[in-house]
Amino acid sequence: MTDTAMPKIYDPKTVERALYDWWEAQGYFKPRLVEGRRPFVISMPPPNVTGKLHLGHAMTASIEDLMIRYHRMRGDPTLWVPGSDHAGIATQNVVERELAKEGKTRHDLGREAFVARVWQWKEKYGGLITQQHRRLGVSCDWERERFTLDEGLSRAVREAFVRLYEKGLIYRGTYLVNWCPRCTTAISDLEVIHREEVTKLWYIRYPLAGRPGEYVTVATTRPETMLGDTAVAVNPEDGRYRGLVGQSLILPLVGRVIPIIADDVVDPRFGTGAVKVTPAHDPVDYELGQRHHLEAIDVMTDDGRMNERAGAFAGQTQAEARRNVVAELERQGLLEKIEDYRHAVGHCQRCDSLVEPRISTQWFARMKPLAEPALQAVRDGRIRIIPERFEKVYFNWLENIRDWCISRQLWWGHRIPVWYCQGCGEEIVSVTDPATCPQCGGAALYQDPDVLDTWFSSGLWPFSTLGWPEDTEDLRTFYPTSVMETGYDILFFWVARMIMLGLEMTGQAPFHTVYLHGLVRDEYGQKMAKSKGNVIDPIEIMDEYGTDAVRFSFLTGSTPGNDMKLSRTRLEANRNFANKIWNAARFVVSNLEVGAGSPRPEAPETLADRWIQSRLQRLTADVTRLIDEYQFGEAGRQIYDFLWGEFADWYIEISKVRLYGDDPTAAATARRVLVTVLEQALRLLHPFMPFVTETIWQSLKRAWGDERWGDSIMIAPWPAAGATDAEAERQMASIMDVVRAIRNARAEYDVEPARRIPALIAAGDLTAAFQAERASLVSLARLDDARLTIAPELAEKPAKALALVTGGVEVYLPLAGLVDLEREQARLSKELADVEADIARAAGLLANERFVAKAPAEVVQKERDKLAAAEERKAALAARLEMLAGM
Ligand SMILES: [Zn+2]
Ligand SMILES: [Zn+2]
Repeated sequence: MTDTAMPKIYDPKTVERALYDWWEAQGYFKPRLVEGRRPFVISMPPPNVTGKLHLGHAMTASIEDLMIRYHRMRGDPTLWVPGSDHAGIATQNVVERELAKEGKTRHDLGREAFVARVWQWKEKYGGLITQQHRRLGVSCDWERERFTLDEGLSRAVREAFVRLYEKGLIYRGTYLVNWCPRCTTAISDLEVIHREEVTKLWYIRYPLAGRPGEYVTVATTRPETMLGDTAVAVNPEDGRYRGLVGQSLILPLVGRVIPIIADDVVDPRFGTGAVKVTPAHDPVDYELGQRHHLEAIDVMTDDGRMNERAGAFAGQTQAEARRNVVAELERQGLLEKIEDYRHAVGHCQRCDSLVEPRISTQWFARMKPLAEPALQAVRDGRIRIIPERFEKVYFNWLENIRDWCISRQLWWGHRIPVWYCQGCGEEIVSVTDPATCPQCGGAALYQDPDVLDTWFSSGLWPFSTLGWPEDTEDLRTFYPTSVMETGYDILFFWVARMIMLGLEMTGQAPFHTVYLHGLVRDEYGQKMAKSKGNVIDPIEIMDEYGTDAVRFSFLTGSTPGNDMKLSRTRLEANRNFANKIWNAARFVVSNLEVGAGSPRPEAPETLADRWIQSRLQRLTADVTRLIDEYQFGEAGRQIYDFLWGEFADWYIEISKVRLYGDDPTAAATARRVLVTVLEQALRLLHPFMPFVTETIWQSLKRAWGDERWGDSIMIAPWPAAGATDAEAERQMASIMDVVRAIRNARAEYDVEPARRIPALIAAGDLTAAFQAERASLVSLARLDDARLTIAPELAEKPAKALALVTGGVEVYLPLAGLVDLEREQARLSKELADVEADIARAAGLLANERFVAKAPAEVVQKERDKLAAAEERKAALAARLEMLAGM
């Protein structure tokens, strides 16, 4: 007993770290190739290198580790590739904030020194999240860990850029882009978060040229941009302005003469029907300007101030300029009125600053030709999206996709592989750094200062991490990958781009399945946010409840694509589950004799033995099917119900009769069934709760196992579902129903737990089964064996007995055996008196008109409910007393 005994209490802290290190050291996280067997591969979504593990990461890792452990046990060559993302803007922001504390900006350091400083920061703090991931038990191959800025991935980025450029799918152009004045870079449409806000609508008078005293009034939400106006536009159908189209206006504060133009895009219902046109600072105006050949005048600097083209307002911030422009217009009598106005305002996803639409020269990827094959791959089923409803979202976005602005005015990232020749102006696009200009041979070259959007490199992630563009062994073996599992919130940012770039670069869909999980919300369904104070730190709950309980909560609480609520109650319940299995296993192990694994004489299996083994085979088939169908939550719930209910609460109790009995062969059978059922159920549970299952499995192995068990549950084979025994399940279900009915009756009559009661059971065609499990029945329902009758039918139904009928089986419990007549009558009479007093009180209250009229409706309703419940109880007590009186 000594060396196999399990500690009384399961303490996750004492086992998790050591187990993880042991698994990793054994090389279990590395793929084991099997000839002719298709590998199962997941690329882990790379968390930002600035990141700290949050619940979203923990959810992602739990789901992916479940799939990975499952496939590894199935015997598939299994690879999970981890890594992290350099996270352009986010990381640059972090280091810039650090510099700000020293009173410096990145410009004080210069580009090279700044980038070196970011690398230093990355080496020092960038590993935090990988350590935190280990706490979750993730079984990824750390030797294949990648970073989006490492040498291989940087080369992949250059290769992809050059290929797209050469096909005409990347171009440089001057267009209106989204500009963040805080981050001082262009950002893509996806990085702009639109929020409804109430701002102002200013009505400004623009004087007509050559017609003193006459003017056209325009309405605008951004008066400061009027300094860059190059026209005023009206709808051609708008009768109010028909005579004015083609005339000129004098732009106030600037004095520029601008035309009045007509265009269908103008909504006559907005403001006065006349709008100012600022092609350099508004997307609609930009298009208008293109159509009408208007000049685009950018009046702002990179950091959101007014530039020299803003005249007297140059150098002011946008907010200052707005105040001053409005004040000056008012002074000149050109401000007609100001109204409140509700509309969507764009903010930077990274820093929440107001995003400025701004004309700028940037690099773009042409998306239509890339989107078409990506649409096709999902339409023809090469890629399946789970849940299916997201396919529509995906189609809709790709069908309306616009070109992607891929350049960023940052220093941290993949620098664009384009060089310009100072001699002849040649543009050189190259995978390797060019030394001289191929056109003129000159050596005075300078590289484009911009870097690429972070999502450009993560779009290559499934294949760049395997060695692409080199034709590596890993790429040949493990690409295309299998499942891309991530949150639905980055379907466009990431998943769609991986599909587009994967198809374009490798000719293959990068994965066959996209599994999208929802967001983790608090127990009330609220989004977690620092400002709300409801953020849960995954590390903290792993410390408190154990990693398995946290994983199990994610895995059973979520369904694909739907947000989940995480509550402490659920975490506690799942910690209790780990403890329940631990206690059950401790019971089993403590009843094994050391070395009992060797065969010894056994009695034949009982009905209960055949039942629990059949239930296990059914569970195995169901769980396997559910995991294959990505229904992880339901699979976990079924394992939970089996282990907690059928195994621990029923079978273990039933086994005690034989374990504590005097037939050693019967005890040997019970021991073997206990061990084999527990062991197989642990294997089913392992992908959900790796730590507690491995810990128990090792104890079980020490007490019972042999070399055939292997070294670890994580490399033990996934169970194959064997034959079921429907007849045993039917018979046992009936016996359990009878036990439940008797237990309920005992509770209802307040029978002391130690009291053994008589019973008569008419079991019909189940008589043999009930006879076979007679000892179990006696033990589970606490029956008096000497006064227990089991027969196909009863010649005479006993009088003065409680009759219970469940599924064709009749059970009679003689009342005299159940209760002490006088005491029970006294108890019931007392309770009846109490109930009658309650009824009188509630009825009195409800008869009081003032109470009914004045009290809140829900208080009155509560009294009515109370009264109804008391009446019901009174009737039941009266019936019970009447029955006892007849005895
Ligand atoms: Zn920003
Ligand atoms: Zn040249």
